[in-house]
Amino acid sequence: MFNFLRRQALRKKPFPLTWLDVLQGQVAWYARLTPELQRRLQGRMQIFLREKTFIGCGGLTVTDTMRVIVAAQACRLELHHEPSHFPHCETIFLYPEAFVSTVTRMLPGGVIEQMPTVRIGESWHRGSVVLAWNAVEASAWAEWTGRNVVLHEFAHQLDSGSGAVDGVPVLRNAAAYARWEGVVDRSLTRLRLHLNRGEVPIDPYAAQNPAEFFAVITELYFEAPHVLRAFDPELLHLLEDYYGVFPVHSAEAA
Ligand SMILES: [Zn+2]
Repeated sequence: MFNFLRRQALRKKPFPLTWLDVLQGQVAWYARLTPELQRRLQGRMQIFLREKTFIGCGGLTVTDTMRVIVAAQACRLELHHEPSHFPHCETIFLYPEAFVSTVTRMLPGGVIEQMPTVRIGESWHRGSVVLAWNAVEASAWAEWTGRNVVLHEFAHQLDSGSGAVDGVPVLRNAAAYARWEGVVDRSLTRLRLHLNRGEVPIDPYAAQNPAEFFAVITELYFEAPHVLRAFDPELLHLLEDYYGVFPVHSAEAA
């Protein structure tokens, strides 16, 4: 109850004009939202920015511009559905650019290998998201590339809402889970067949596992829906039902 009332008060707070300047000047899709959706986004961002802690890494000083651009893109994912407010993400670590992360994996014979890997984003099941600021900034302004690191990492956060990071977010009912599993299994199998033939209909990273598949198709849904439609129209409809609306997009994408 306390959370509900506190969030209701935050939603109604006047949105700072300096934040509005950032949305209008540096977030390309903001201008295409209806006034009602702009207000809704602002309210959700007020909650996001109050509840999440931002920490600069690698010498980066986090500014309000950075916080606003991350918040806008994360909140865009839930603009048309009942918001979860990403309860498992408490902290967002921002690096100035791509960072090195150590990936641990088990090799045959039980040998554990630790490999440094360069990344622009990471999502941890409990607690945090890590982002490269230059990639965040570029994806807020460059549209229709099909790439958006904030959408990708926060899709992982939505995925983790169901308990496991397995490519299945929280859905309405048992029928929705059954449909999700059927459409995604078939689509992921088809993607792997394409890749085996040397065809690349969407980012091959999606073929890694169902969790990456969900994160990559989320990026495409918002940033290049025409590519997703050409790959698998049923998959596009699945995301339309989940995210709640078909994104407004360019004439090229129509
Ligand atoms: Zn990922």
